[in-house]
Amino acid sequence: MKYLLLLSIFFSSCSFQKAKETLGFAPAVEQKPAWIKKDVKFVMQNSDVQVADQQKDVRDYCQKLEQSFERYGWGKSECDKVKWSWQLHSHDGDPLIYAIWADNNPNPEKPITTTLIMCGVHGDEITPIKFCFDVISMLRDIDKSKPEFRENFRNKRVVVAPLVSPDSYFKRYPSRTNARGVDINRNFPTKDWTKDALRLWAHRYGKDKRRYPGAKAGSETETQFQVELIDNFTPGKIVSVHSPLTMLDYDGPEDFQTGGEVGNKASQLLIQMSRKASGYRIKNYPFFPGSLGNYAGNERGIPTFTLELPSSDNRRHKEYWKQFKGAIRAAIIQELSVDYGVAGEANTSDEEHLN
Ligand SMILES: [Zn+2]
Repeated sequence: MKYLLLLSIFFSSCSFQKAKETLGFAPAVEQKPAWIKKDVKFVMQNSDVQVADQQKDVRDYCQKLEQSFERYGWGKSECDKVKWSWQLHSHDGDPLIYAIWADNNPNPEKPITTTLIMCGVHGDEITPIKFCFDVISMLRDIDKSKPEFRENFRNKRVVVAPLVSPDSYFKRYPSRTNARGVDINRNFPTKDWTKDALRLWAHRYGKDKRRYPGAKAGSETETQFQVELIDNFTPGKIVSVHSPLTMLDYDGPEDFQTGGEVGNKASQLLIQMSRKASGYRIKNYPFFPGSLGNYAGNERGIPTFTLELPSSDNRRHKEYWKQFKGAIRAAIIQELSVDYGVAGEANTSDEEHLN
């Protein structure tokens, strides 16, 4: 009975509201949620690292990096202008750094989604490292762009680790493997590692030193670093930049039939990235025991894009940035999460002024 009464009060108040509207009373002004009144504020997040000796670590690191940039003719890295975070150190003692950009004014009704971008997994592929610093300089410019363009970055977060394996890069002769002679991209703790990694290395690759997967899965700090980034930021997609295989490779949920909506959107993004890079070759490269594509894409269902630049030639850095910046931007902007409705193309019409 009590419920019936409440119900009738509810209905009569509804009809009263209706009557007010028909009688020409001005309807109450709809309150816009606070977040939408403000433009996207896409900013570098403060690092949680403040301890003095750690600050010194990163100063030394940036100095070393700056020297290498000079040697390769890449101009200033601006490494010292970035708020780096790090928890781990490489075997030779360099901090394993990453930086975070995020929308400081997100829509609370939607999740924050993360794109993880990594370079320098193989230290002898030097130009991809410069490429990640170009990504960083673009991210720093976004907040200076027009509000309509910035809207593309609503609820977005981007994590960049520009040099996953500093020991291999800072050597006099940069190497594919890390300081302990391990290929980081064969060392991820994938399910097939114990059974296949060393066996394949011995039989298919003739114990090629450049592809040694390590004595144990996940034994290397640089591998643990990437695993922690994935665990801590739960990225909706990953972009890893290598060279020189001249292709765009994808691992993860495949398409609408087998990969659901995320797979559907991811394959559309793959095509979009290729198109933005003047029809860059898409190739379905196999994944390996202990590779990122296997660990993140295949086993965890995180869309993982591997961009293999055409060469490691340090002199071609500008050309590569020009060719692939649109693809990287699309990868950051395009939403793959199912919480964001059907796949569509991002509004990037006025992006061209960006570096
Ligand atoms: Zn590589």
